[in-house]
Amino acid sequence: MLHGFSSCGILESQYQGFAEAAKIGNVGDKYIDYVYGTMGYMQTVLKAGDDCMTEQIYEVQNTDSYQQRNGVPMHTIQQWQCCVMRLTVIEVAHDFVLKIKNWLWTLNIQNSFDTWHEASVKCHFYYSMKNCTSPDNLRRRLLTILDHYQGNHTNCDPDSKCKNPGYRCSKVKLNNPRAIAALHKFILDSKVYKLAEDYYLCCDTYWVESFNNVILIYCPKRIHFSDRTFNIRIALAVMDWNENVNREATTISLIQDVHRPTRRTGHKNLYQKLSSSGS
Ligand SMILES: [Zn+2]
Repeated sequence: MLHGFSSCGILESQYQGFAEAAKIGNVGDKYIDYVYGTMGYMQTVLKAGDDCMTEQIYEVQNTDSYQQRNGVPMHTIQQWQCCVMRLTVIEVAHDFVLKIKNWLWTLNIQNSFDTWHEASVKCHFYYSMKNCTSPDNLRRRLLTILDHYQGNHTNCDPDSKCKNPGYRCSKVKLNNPRAIAALHKFILDSKVYKLAEDYYLCCDTYWVESFNNVILIYCPKRIHFSDRTFNIRIALAVMDWNENVNREATTISLIQDVHRPTRRTGHKNLYQKLSSSGS
């Protein structure tokens, strides 16, 4: 019962309130303490959580990308976040906070700002960040935006759509010198151009944000938990995340959204979540 309500994300007080109102009987505080301590529930969950993280770390250390770069690959940041002390960190991606950048600089760790928070000429900026090979290359690619909108595609990427025969730009061609100067200034003033060294690896913090959402299922921000309960709930969140991250989708629904009419990726209907590590 205790494991049931902890794993489904409801709180001890919510469970007790519900069970009392429904008159179905409930376990009391003393019994919960007994299960946590004497019966060893706490130690079992903490050990299972630790084993789960150790297993994932071992998996990361054996990936080609980790061995080639001797650091943490982007998609396993969630494992790094849990166990930073046991992996060699060479790069950290985060939202735009200069203090963190300066701190990482003192530790000789590559800084990357989250790409999601930047860029108004979005597609071009993202495309440039994703395909560039160095900070200078990123700057050069960003400047091709200027020529592209004037109808000159000589320097555009060979894989770009504008290289296809018969390509027609969906935007109005830029002819007005003041508009061209404004776009040029916009590119030069953008954070991505100025701080290309912090964007050229094209990192984002999606995985960390997603993992934080899973933590919130078990540990809502507005509730103050005791250390004992907090640690158990974090361990359950880690097991939930590690077991269910990147699970396959059964189908993809193509739903038209009036707010995002150009969206074509569709909505993934995922397989049901597993909870074998928590059982
Ligand atoms: Zn072009």
